[in-house]
Amino acid sequence: MARIRPLLLVHYHELGLKRGNRPLFLRHLARNLRRATADLGRGPLRQVSGRLLLDLEGHPDAAAIQDRARRVCGVASVALAYRVVSTVEAMKAVIASLVEGRSFASFRITARRAFKTYPMSSVELNRELGAFVLERVTTRVDLRNPELEIHVEVMPAETFVYVDPVSGPGGLPVGASGTVAALLSGGIDSPVAAWRMMKRGCRVLFVHFHSAPYLPATSQAKARALVGVLTQWQYDSKLALVPFGEIQREVVLTVPPPARVVVYRRLMVRIAEALARKHGALALTTGESLGQVASQTLSNIARIDDVAGMPILRPLIGMDKLEITEEARRLGTFEISIEPDADCCTLFVPKHPATRMTEHEVAAVEAGLEIPRLVAAGCDGASVEAFEFPTGDAGEPATA
Ligand code: ATP
Ligand code: MG
Repeated sequence: MARIRPLLLVHYHELGLKRGNRPLFLRHLARNLRRATADLGRGPLRQVSGRLLLDLEGHPDAAAIQDRARRVCGVASVALAYRVVSTVEAMKAVIASLVEGRSFASFRITARRAFKTYPMSSVELNRELGAFVLERVTTRVDLRNPELEIHVEVMPAETFVYVDPVSGPGGLPVGASGTVAALLSGGIDSPVAAWRMMKRGCRVLFVHFHSAPYLPATSQAKARALVGVLTQWQYDSKLALVPFGEIQREVVLTVPPPARVVVYRRLMVRIAEALARKHGALALTTGESLGQVASQTLSNIARIDDVAGMPILRPLIGMDKLEITEEARRLGTFEISIEPDADCCTLFVPKHPATRMTEHEVAAVEAGLEIPRLVAAGCDGASVEAFEFPTGDAGEPATA
């Protein structure tokens, strides 16, 4: 049999998708799949009952395209699949070429029919194709824990046969849920929080507060590197770099040490919110996890929320540091986050920050600050940089 060329078969979870949302979901998913593979020279994308198919047109590096596609949010799994006509003979021919020269102690056939009028049931297909494999290879059937699983998906006009699908992130395609502004420090948590929001379909605007010239510019370099990594999931990003050192210096003049962390955070939120509005974002997101550090007690979180005019989403609130760290490693942000730097949180930060402050107490210590002027200074002083993936033009100044 002439070797046939694989296509990329993309599955997404339809479960939980409301009927009316499905076309929007698919439009975003298809656009992101095209975008993620744009530079690799593949063929067109089409839709077949609950799946997307990307024509690889004989691309020499199918695995590279699969690797890009598996990162697209909304994708449940991706496989290099062989397309044949829906006859048992054609299915056998492709299975023969898939198992040829391969040794596996056990296997199973997993046949599925996307339409029920096909003359054979999936059980009958499993039996017939399984018997065919047993004739050719010394192996055994194991339905529970097979070493090789051969998938056969019968569609009305064609059948797809594949092995070794790889899982994607699941979730929703970036762009389907609107935009959020993520407060991105150089730490481990906030990049993971931003990614979690992408996975729920959000486009993320990154906002980083730095203390140059009071501290070296390393925190900005880390923020850029982190945004560079995270842009792999949303294809283009903007990073707003906000000068915060001068603002902190003013806070230090009038606010007693224990209250400073909460006051800094409230100023960050006000500035981030102003930037969010400017860029069309509807919510903020942070890497806070309940009780992890002094600023993340319930009452401090309440004091931070007091000044926010839009929701602050905290996707890591119930996660342990260990779980967050594992996710950061998977994403490839961990190595960047652990590089030593002095971010603005290390500048003018008290040894013993207050863990409990009332609304009244915070208002009293903030009375000596000209909040609107400080917020305007942060917002107007922000410089915005643009990032792109796959082209990798990191760090170019944005036009907006
Ligand atoms: P992270 O690991 O994300 O730095 P953290 O455990 O260090 O978090 P905090 O320092 O209390 O916790 O920061 C809480 C959140 O506030 C961060 O997750 C981030 O969203 C935001 N944040 C803190 N510092 C900055 C900064 N310099 N620029 C932007 N956002 C910041
Ligand atoms: Mg931090």
